[in-house]
Amino acid sequence: MHRGKDPKKGFVILRSVERKTTARILDGTDLARRLREEARAQAADLPGPPPGLRVILVGGDPASEAYVSSKTKAMREAGLRAETIRLPADAAPQALLGEIDRANQSAEIDGILVQLPLPPGHDPRRIFDALDPRKDVDGFHPENVGLLHQGRPGFVPCTPAGILALLDDYAIPIAGRRAVVIGRSEIVGKPVAALLTARDATVTLCHSKTRDLPAICREAEIVVAAIGRAGLVTEEFVREGATVIDVGINRLTDIDALPPHLRTRERLRQAIKERGKVLVGDVDFDRVAAVAGWITPVPGGVGPLTVAMLLKNTVRAARLRASRGAGPL
Ligand code: NAD
Repeated sequence: MHRGKDPKKGFVILRSVERKTTARILDGTDLARRLREEARAQAADLPGPPPGLRVILVGGDPASEAYVSSKTKAMREAGLRAETIRLPADAAPQALLGEIDRANQSAEIDGILVQLPLPPGHDPRRIFDALDPRKDVDGFHPENVGLLHQGRPGFVPCTPAGILALLDDYAIPIAGRRAVVIGRSEIVGKPVAALLTARDATVTLCHSKTRDLPAICREAEIVVAAIGRAGLVTEEFVREGATVIDVGINRLTDIDALPPHLRTRERLRQAIKERGKVLVGDVDFDRVAAVAGWITPVPGGVGPLTVAMLLKNTVRAARLRASRGAGPL
């Protein structure tokens, strides 16, 4: 692959050496930077202390620690407040519900984020039900989920909101297009499908029981992969010129953990050899980039937008609170 700038459009272009086709890169990092700047400016316009987020982290899962630290760092860099409450992995559900209640009641806190996944023994639905929907900056409370599906304004989950913002930033048409979303989780797949539907795409939501997944995906002009399986989406899934959004973040430390078709990739082998780990999306980037029209890289695609949208949602929660008058909710 060769990277270079398209002189006319300024987009980064990937050229496949083996095939003479190209995919343009949907750069999430640049849009995320602009969204964080917007959040900073909006926060600075608000009266009183800067908008504040409380993150609740149960257990010490290293990936969750890394996500929480990048979220709170980005918040502080944008002039927002962020604090993390840590509970031990064996904390009882009641302890977590108690923390949520405290955060719900606190006049200092605009947004609450319970970092997922929760250790076994916690029912995520019970936890989300307990959040004050007006502080639910992740958009997982059933009230916000319902509003999303009705196309009414509420808090939209950060990753799906980031995906739509990215498509819009590159003026990828959505209305009337065929879209396939792979993965039906509450946090990515279902809300992405709802957002694309609200924007008049014709959406097919696929999952682990879907038959003949490649054929269904080949009909799509927009493919969103939110599966959690490294490189599952290969060029057989993608029609020429399609837009491919790779949500997957698969952290691999062992070459044998890669699916057989990725094991021979020198880039991935080298990363594991040198750094002991590699991040791989759900899309086989090298092969799909030779067919697709647009593609998100991993990292540098959807990931940074998730964090930027969290900032935007927290500022929005603070603005809504300010418009209702100061004091606890
Ligand atoms: P999840 O495990 O909750 O859901 C996975 C979905 O994929 C399920 O609906 C399942 O039916 C489907 N699936 C599994 N195997 C399949 C197969 N072989 N064929 C078709 N469908 C299959 O996962 P999630 O929380 O939605 O996350 C998905 C991926 O996105 C993960 O890699 C996760 O790390 C990543 N993620 C990234 C961000 C980001 O900011 N970039 C945010 C959230 C999640």
